[in-house]
Amino acid sequence: MINVKGLVKDFGKNRVIDGINATVSAGEVVVLIGASGSGKSTFLRCLNGLETLTAGEILIDNVRLESKSSSLKQIRRQVGMVFQQFNLFPHLTVLENVIEAPVHVLNQKKDIAVKAARELLTKVGLLDKQNCYPGTLSGGQGQRVAIARALAMHPKIMLFDEPTSALDPELVGEVLTVMKQLAEDGMTMVVVTHEMGFAREVADRVIFIDEGRIVEEGSPIQIFSNPQEKRTQTFLGRLS
Ligand code: ATP
Ligand code: MG
Repeated sequence: MINVKGLVKDFGKNRVIDGINATVSAGEVVVLIGASGSGKSTFLRCLNGLETLTAGEILIDNVRLESKSSSLKQIRRQVGMVFQQFNLFPHLTVLENVIEAPVHVLNQKKDIAVKAARELLTKVGLLDKQNCYPGTLSGGQGQRVAIARALAMHPKIMLFDEPTSALDPELVGEVLTVMKQLAEDGMTMVVVTHEMGFAREVADRVIFIDEGRIVEEGSPIQIFSNPQEKRTQTFLGRLS
């Protein structure tokens, strides 16, 4: 589903992604871990065409991600992304936030988009908030709306960049529960998170990145219980 070959990304003289090769299969949940500044966000941004690539290529369903705007638009529709700061439109209600892109980008009829949006809001447990404005929601509710909004585009892949890092601890669980459900429904997901419990429970594969390179990857048990590389051991040691 996702095929990354020899990916390099420089910002000026700074090599942030230094030759990453990776594949993600349909339905797979991959968790990316690594220290601050190791390139995790940049890697995710490359996957949905938010960054121009310095070298290498990315194929999504065997279609090469090109910097041409037509192909980028298509990729962004197929690849949903949820960020730490969820940036809902503050002047639109929850329901209006979720139907915005389906109506304006996919040209869906409004009544069809509303029906689909209500189903998604039910899925994330927020149908009762459909007419509320984002400013009245908790962080966890806002993030669940952001997930529903991304899903409304019917993405093939969902990318999550530290979706719970900005939340109060008591709100983290409700967001992780929605993500876990999505994983169980078979969504292909790449997740950057510091929630090692989630990684252990939900990830099919954990990838440890350091200085823009994949140092080690494997099942959660392999990576957390029996890491082979010194750098992985040091990183995980700091967390516990
Ligand atoms: P964190 O855990 O703190 O989110 P990260 O692993 O997501 O870190 P990135 O945000 O990908 O790391 O950043 C990797 C490196 O790339 C950092 O040194 C950062 O300063 C640099 N970088 C990221 N975006 C840009 C940009 N737009 N312009 C210049 N440098 C950038
Ligand atoms: Mg980051």
